[in-house]
Amino acid sequence: MSDHAPASNAPASPVKSMDAIMALCKRRGFIYQASEIYGGINGFWDYGPLGAQLKKNLRDAWWQDMIMRPCWGKQGPGGREVRCVPLETCIVQHPRVWQASGHLAGFADLMRKCPKCGHFVRADQLWDTIVQSSEWFASLIQEFEPSPEGTQTPQMNADRLLKWARTKGKKLAPNLALVRNPEVTLSWLVTRVNGQPTAPPDVIEILRHLATEQLNATGLQDPCTRCGAVLGEPAPFKLMFETWAGLTQTEDNKVYLRPETAQGIFVQFKNVVDTNRIKIPFGIGNTGKSFRNEITPRNFTFRSREFEQAELEFFCPPDESLEWYKFWRDFRMEWWKSIGLAGENLILREHEKDELSFYSQGTSDVEYRFPFTAPGFGELEGIAHRGNYDLTQHQKESGAKMEYNDTERGELLPNGQRRGERYLPHCIEPAAGLDRGVLAILCEAYTKDESRPSPEFMKFHPRLAPIKAAVFPLVAKDGMPEIAEKLHKELTDRFWRVGAIETDEKQTIGKRYARMDEAGCPYCFTIDSDTLKDQTVTVRDRDTGSQERIGIDNVSGFLADKLQV
Ligand code: ATP
Repeated sequence: MSDHAPASNAPASPVKSMDAIMALCKRRGFIYQASEIYGGINGFWDYGPLGAQLKKNLRDAWWQDMIMRPCWGKQGPGGREVRCVPLETCIVQHPRVWQASGHLAGFADLMRKCPKCGHFVRADQLWDTIVQSSEWFASLIQEFEPSPEGTQTPQMNADRLLKWARTKGKKLAPNLALVRNPEVTLSWLVTRVNGQPTAPPDVIEILRHLATEQLNATGLQDPCTRCGAVLGEPAPFKLMFETWAGLTQTEDNKVYLRPETAQGIFVQFKNVVDTNRIKIPFGIGNTGKSFRNEITPRNFTFRSREFEQAELEFFCPPDESLEWYKFWRDFRMEWWKSIGLAGENLILREHEKDELSFYSQGTSDVEYRFPFTAPGFGELEGIAHRGNYDLTQHQKESGAKMEYNDTERGELLPNGQRRGERYLPHCIEPAAGLDRGVLAILCEAYTKDESRPSPEFMKFHPRLAPIKAAVFPLVAKDGMPEIAEKLHKELTDRFWRVGAIETDEKQTIGKRYARMDEAGCPYCFTIDSDTLKDQTVTVRDRDTGSQERIGIDNVSGFLADKLQV
């Protein structure tokens, strides 16, 4: 799925500013550019103190709800219990793993290289890239008159184009045919525009004329987004990072950083079955870093080169697989809603038949409307019915038997036992991205309200909030700091497993609330002069700003109730 999914019919709510969200992420320590003091490195991001805890809370929520108590204890199809176990596999695997999975042969995007300046452009995004980010295009397009109503083609003024080619063009796109040989290029274009075409050329076709010195048998050419030279033919560009394991840096020692966590599960499937008393249907979950040398990393952390996945492979008998697919697809949508993405920004998109891999009986994506994809959606998670494709591939490549002996099925013997049925299980794969999950949660939580002391605040679901609560003395005297410190310690001792409890006595109380709002802390408890008299404290709710008083002895219970821990 691309990050430019088609627009849906959902009513459009105002699009939040990505710049503002990124600025808050930096200012409050959610996300930093990796190696920032060296100018950053494209496609790599670090998480600051608040971001690291937010991401951990998301990972923990996944772990708890997918592995420790899968699907909140719901029953699967036919009333079957949902059982899952964890696994942690290596980033570097034997290269034949990637041979078997098809990644070595097929995990590539088509790229076009500029023979003049060496720039690479992704073949399927060429025109998008030119229109969105080419400097020479932005300048050249100003030389066209807007199209008169009723026609699709902008008006061309040959004199202005000639002038552009001799001035700005020389600097911005020295290798564009129009710049190198303006008269010839324009004469072809004039013939096309003034000839007897069945349809007038559109702007892309005009630009392709401008990139072509002579219309020859090969037809119109595509220009480099940077210098305008004619681009080379599309060629596959491998997305896997390569390195060496061993002393000599030779082909024999070449290994790859995994592009997904899932294959580690397939190659350990037999070990998990043989060393645990677990019976099909069951799932194996794996979280961890994956690496893809994405050609155009972009949109903050959405498309990174290093990212974290949370993947489950759920193995089941082939004749139950469609039901399990539907079960997981629906649960995964419900899960994302449960942690705060409910609403019009979240959709479940079932793939069309012609989008499916040959082995798949169904695939869906959970998609979120990010500010940079709006009004379209971008993929958060894919839920795929993978049939027995992966186990078949690894069985073929390694020679290891991957069949499962199902003793609940098969012929009933006279002694009352079953012979067992051997088969390659089918697999349902809910594959989520934790970085995209964090990004969606940040975008959803970001709220602007000019009437508040903090005009920007983060409405995290309490389960995910990196700071769970703050304890403040109203003023730093009269014994209030001591009471606050005692409560702070009590809450930290009880809640440290799920997030931080903060305390702070500097600045006005309004400013301290505002700071906590920006960090997305759901509850603040304030010790004031009444606390000294009646042992009550003020609880302030982040979302409404409303305040109530509760007994200081009830604070811990109140918070446990709200956080559901
Ligand atoms: P896309 O089409 O956006 O490249 P994909 O379909 O290739 O994604 P999968 O291989 O299904 O993605 O990986 C599962 C999940 O891993 C995705 O839904 C996404 O959340 C995450 N993911 C994949 N590639 C990246 C990336 N480059 N940066 C961040 N997260 C990613």
